[in-house]
Amino acid sequence: MCKKTIFSKIISREIPADILYQDSLVTAFRDINPQAPIHILIVTNIEIPTVNDITIDHENMLGHLFSVAVKMAQQEGIDKEGYRLIVNCNQNGEQEIYHFHMHLLGGKRLGIMVSE
Ligand code: AMP
Repeated sequence: MCKKTIFSKIISREIPADILYQDSLVTAFRDINPQAPIHILIVTNIEIPTVNDITIDHENMLGHLFSVAVKMAQQEGIDKEGYRLIVNCNQNGEQEIYHFHMHLLGGKRLGIMVSE
């Protein structure tokens, strides 16, 4: 059997995380190493390694994931001022965890999108 990702262990509550929202499709929790005052990850409950692995069968789930991201932004009170949603892919995208997730970042001016 394949080894579970760290995010699957968070989803199944095998390891702790600050979970803010969960339903049958997605889970949202605070990033352990926040890069902004608000930094939340919205993760698919099923393991999809990268955005390259998205298929037409995932479209409804990913539309829902966006809705949950907006719900989280509203809940955190950052929707009006604005925020950034990011999906990293593979090496050049600096992806660290190979389990599909979207970063929700906000709570301050985030500056230019790509540095260096
Ligand atoms: P990425 O580079 O897009 O794969 O982002 C992975 C994110 O997961 C990073 O921002 C990490 O800080 C975060 N992360 C790693 N382990 C944990 C954990 N146990 N709980 C919450 N966030 C985590």
